[in-house]
Amino acid sequence: MTGKNEPEISVGIVSGSGLTFTLHGDYLTAEGGRKLTGRYTAVAENDRLLLKNEAEVIRPGDEIILTPSAFGSCSFTLHAVTIGVNFHWQRNEDQTFRGILKFILRGGQVTAVNVLPVEEYLVSVISSEMSATSSGELLRAHAVISRSWLLAQIDKTLRLSNAGEKYRTSFVTDTEITRWYDREDHRDFDVCADDHCQRYQGITRSTTKAVEEAVHGTGGEVLMYSDFICDARYSKCCGGAAELFENVWEPVNHPYLRKVIDAGSEAGTPDIDLTDEKNAVEWISGKPEAFCNTSDRQILSQVLNNYDQETHDFYRWSVTCQQDELSDLVRERTGIDFGRITSLEPLARGTSGRLIRLRITGEKKSMVIGKELEIRKALSKSHLYSSAFYVEKVEDQGETLFVLHGAGWGHGVGLCQIGAAVMGASGYTYRQILFHYFVDAEIKKLY
Ligand SMILES: [Zn+2]
Ligand SMILES: [Zn+2]
Repeated sequence: MTGKNEPEISVGIVSGSGLTFTLHGDYLTAEGGRKLTGRYTAVAENDRLLLKNEAEVIRPGDEIILTPSAFGSCSFTLHAVTIGVNFHWQRNEDQTFRGILKFILRGGQVTAVNVLPVEEYLVSVISSEMSATSSGELLRAHAVISRSWLLAQIDKTLRLSNAGEKYRTSFVTDTEITRWYDREDHRDFDVCADDHCQRYQGITRSTTKAVEEAVHGTGGEVLMYSDFICDARYSKCCGGAAELFENVWEPVNHPYLRKVIDAGSEAGTPDIDLTDEKNAVEWISGKPEAFCNTSDRQILSQVLNNYDQETHDFYRWSVTCQQDELSDLVRERTGIDFGRITSLEPLARGTSGRLIRLRITGEKKSMVIGKELEIRKALSKSHLYSSAFYVEKVEDQGETLFVLHGAGWGHGVGLCQIGAAVMGASGYTYRQILFHYFVDAEIKKLY
């Protein structure tokens, strides 16, 4: 990934037994050079991929590539795409894209894939992720990390496939489940279009001049450490301190992803060891000074687009669950019957105070689960905001309540979006923002 030309990226948009779409303008099929336009449905029928409309049925084999006759003036709409899968903002909408549309048949399902130049993709991703009111420096910082992350993922896919290794993400014994969620199921494309990778909605929402300027102004720039493109992660709110990569995903240390206290030195925020249980409880129950410790609506609206604004308390939060409710929830979410849950016991925490191993004990069974997202999934109908929490068991009128006191939103590794928004609004440049979160990394222009 060090060539001079801008690379292309393939993005998996949606899968299903049938996908309806509309081509605006002429699209050419790869073989035969047919021109298609208008509304079709791609269906999987008896292990064959078919494209249908009222007039005809096209049988392309197990893959079809539709190339726009002109990139700028052609687009396609995929109807009723589910976004925010399993998140609390899940909804269906029509989405429109530019570039190549590819359908792949796999395991009886049709997947729609969009292939387009990296910089076009970035304009869309950053427009989806960030509000039009964001500061230019925040947008530039985001352009560089999104580009770095993306190119690092393409490199990683190549490395894994060349090495012929199977990338394992799940380790299960009778007493312990260790699992993480990364790009494990993306074999037919580089990234998916949902929050799992980066939220991508094509040109469904209009892009802003500011985002275009931020992407073009940093064109080809990536974060590098030694000879590697940084796997530049980001999440909504670190909670005051950053987490390490290996505490969230596979056990690999990236030297540029360290514990960072998310504050300037003038704030005097103590750098205490949050892997220590007592310190973590003190940290979470306090409200230490940090860039992301803000309730400034103007700044928050830069990072939280409309449907995310449903969430307000993220720096410090609490969730209360009745004992039976919790027992049902955990059984439903993990598929394990613990019986009535009697305790949630922290066993190991990372540098941000996020739990990486939690023992769940019930009247029938006791088990350890990890890492952070596995814990968040087990304890909430969608996702708990973060795994940086401690548990208080309260007796209230003969009822047992579990109160989870937490900090931050997301995995906390790399750039803290809310912290970065505050830095951008306070006059820091995008380079200063990036070097705050990615310690000892460099910015280089690849193409
Ligand atoms: Zn993904
Ligand atoms: Zn933060």
